Amino acid sequence: MDFRALQVDNGDSGYSAAVKTLPMSVLGGGGVLVKIAYSSLNYKDALAVTGKGKIIRQFPLIPGIDFAGEVLESDSHDFAPGQQVILTGWGVGERFNGGLAEYARVKPEWLVPLPVGLDARQAMAVGTAGLTAMLCVMALERHGVTPDCGEVVVSGASGGVGSIALAVLAQLGYRAVAVSGKPELTPWLIELGASSVLLRDSIAAAARPLESEQYAGAIDTCGSSILAGLLPRIRYGGCVAACGLAAGFDLNTTVMPFILRGVTLAGVDSVMCPLPRRNEAWQRIARDLPLSLLDRLSREIGLTQVEDECQRMAAGGAKGRVVVRMEG
Ligand code: NDP
Repeated sequence: MDFRALQVDNGDSGYSAAVKTLPMSVLGGGGVLVKIAYSSLNYKDALAVTGKGKIIRQFPLIPGIDFAGEVLESDSHDFAPGQQVILTGWGVGERFNGGLAEYARVKPEWLVPLPVGLDARQAMAVGTAGLTAMLCVMALERHGVTPDCGEVVVSGASGGVGSIALAVLAQLGYRAVAVSGKPELTPWLIELGASSVLLRDSIAAAARPLESEQYAGAIDTCGSSILAGLLPRIRYGGCVAACGLAAGFDLNTTVMPFILRGVTLAGVDSVMCPLPRRNEAWQRIARDLPLSLLDRLSREIGLTQVEDECQRMAAGGAKGRVVVRMEG
């Protein structure tokens, strides 16, 4: 039996991504065979498909760091044929064949049952980006940043992580300030739940070691000058959940916010996040993300459109989430 997949190669003729028909044998044996209904596009996928980032560790490889679908075969007691599952992270789409395909074969310990209340399409409208957004919200909560503490900033607000973070924060009663490089998207960001929108440049502008205390916390998807601009503006005892590097992986800052205001810089990783926290985050998503907003922040494409979308995303042009439908 054959299946359709996007495959990335890096041979003599250079870096390329193409939709191909592949034999099932490329997926290997054992584990859990999943018929994929939907995958999604995350920043990392954009870098992997375009070759703009060193994401893929062996070639040729099927990219796609997440998927949702139905178990067809399983050698694990934890998953049975017919069960709906989600996969995000664990190096899938980087070191192992990924989700931009009709089928995937993965280790059972990488799978999470589809939470009650979400279907496969909704789960991928959330995807790795939405899981990460929820892990960031949970990090803020663990560090005592509650809605009554004050405003929380979300950078890279128009992107996947940012847009879902805004929707969740607003639903939980936070005043969420969106930081975006796309002023034309202000009405959409407000619709998702932003209480106000700041231009990216106003945060990135060189900040003093300590600015006036403005925000109780932040979810930063950008790193570099944006994260450096946020830290001096965080209130006493506040927290920044840092998960991304859309602006760069550097961080030029001072220790002043940490040692004079007790600010916490909390790193957030979704790839190797332990299962109990993952499951908790998916349960929280099913509970705390208004599903009506998922339709407003996501759109659907087919496998043949993935490459063009990835070019746009890698150039900073994301708006919300892109779901990739496998059938049809
Ligand atoms: P998207 O491509 O969906 O969104 C990224 C957003 O970042 C853009 O929409 C834009 O928002 C902003 N941006 C783009 N370029 C720049 C730039 N040069 N300077 C500042 N901001 C920029 O990406 P995701 O939401 O999927 O991911 C966001 C980040 O989070 C990425 O770095 C990704 O690698 C990381 N990530 C980390 C995870 C983890 O486990 N730690 C998991 C998932 C994502 P705007 O125009 O509104 O400013």
